[in-house]
Amino acid sequence: MKNILLGMTTAELRKLARDLGEKEFRGKQIADWIYHHGVKEIAEMVNLPAILREKLTENYMVGRSSVLSMSKSKDHTFKLLLGLVDGEKVETVGMLYKDRFSCCVSTQAGCPIGCIFCATGAGGYKRNLTAGEVIDQVLAVQEAAPKDGLTEGNGRVSHVVFMGMGEPLLNYEATLKAVSLINSEMGIGMRNITVSTIGYVPGIYRLAEEHLQLTLAVSLHAGDEMLRKKLVPGMTRYSIREIIKACRDYIKATGRRVTFEYCLLKNLNDGREDAAGLAALLRGLNCHVNLIPYNDFPGNIYERPGKAAVDEFRQVLEEAGINVTQRAQKGAGIQAACGQLRRQHNSR
Ligand code: SF4
Repeated sequence: MKNILLGMTTAELRKLARDLGEKEFRGKQIADWIYHHGVKEIAEMVNLPAILREKLTENYMVGRSSVLSMSKSKDHTFKLLLGLVDGEKVETVGMLYKDRFSCCVSTQAGCPIGCIFCATGAGGYKRNLTAGEVIDQVLAVQEAAPKDGLTEGNGRVSHVVFMGMGEPLLNYEATLKAVSLINSEMGIGMRNITVSTIGYVPGIYRLAEEHLQLTLAVSLHAGDEMLRKKLVPGMTRYSIREIIKACRDYIKATGRRVTFEYCLLKNLNDGREDAAGLAALLRGLNCHVNLIPYNDFPGNIYERPGKAAVDEFRQVLEEAGINVTQRAQKGAGIQAACGQLRRQHNSR
C-alpha cells in the first residue's frame, strides 16, 4: 500500500519535498492542499509542478476516507460513518451551534473498554486509528456541514472533542499528534480541544507532562467502586480513588480544571445517594461535572432518567459547591451516541 500524506505536519512535508529533489516550500503548499482545501487526490494540487505530482503519486496517496452514510437530526447535529482505506469503519459527529461548530472524533475503530451502555463497546475492538485518520474526521465533518450560515466562522470546525469511538489515551501517540495537527495545521485553538478518557491513569499522568492548554474530560459514570466496575468493565485496573488522585495531580501540574463526564442511567446510577457519593469524592477539586442523560434508542435495555431525577442529581452536586452543566440532548433520532450508526450499518 502507498504511504499516506494525511497526518504529516508541514515540517514533515517540507522534508519530503526536499527528499524528492524539490524546494522545501512545496511542502507547505501540499499541507495547504490537504488541511485547508481538503483535496482527496494529489492530482488536485494544481500549483505543484507536474513532475512533483508524478513523483508523489508513485509512492503516496492523500489517504482520505469515504463517507458511507450520513444521518442528520432536526437540531443540526449530523453523524457520518466513514470507510477507512483498509475497510474499517468509524463514526464522527458534527454539532452546529450559533456560536461554534464542534466535531466529535473517534480515536479507535471499536473500543476495548466495553462500557455496558455503549454500542461501540458492544462491537469490540478492531485497531487504533492513525493521527491522519483522526484529522480526516474533522475535514469530513467540515465538508459535510450544511452551508446555511448557522455558525460563525464560515462553516469551519471551531471545537474538537475526542469523545467518539475508542479510548484516546490508549492510542496516546496518535491522539497527541492529532491534537497537534488540529492546532497547528487547522488553526483550532488548544483551549477549544477536549480529550476524554475513561480513567486510564497512566495516560492522565503522561498527558499532565505535556502541559497543554486543552481540556481533560474524565468519564467517571459512578462514585461507587462496585457500580463503576459494573458500568465500565474494561478499566477495572484503576480504582476511583486512583483516578481522582491522578486528576488532582493533573490539575496541579497544568493549572487546568478537569471535567468529569457522568452518563445518567435510569435506576442504575441516577439516585440521590449516587449524587451524594460523587459530591463527596469531588469535594475541593477544581472541576466541573457534565451530566449526560443517557441517549436511549429503540432496542436498548437501558433508559434515560426522567427530568425530575436529573434535576435532583444536579441539585445535590450544586449544593455541595460543584459546578455542573447538563449536556443538551443533541442528535435525537440519528443514533448519535457513539457506535450506534456503525452497528446499524454492520447489521445491514
Ligand atoms: S463509552 Fe467510550 S470508553 Fe466506553 S466502550 Fe464506549 S467508546 Fe469505549
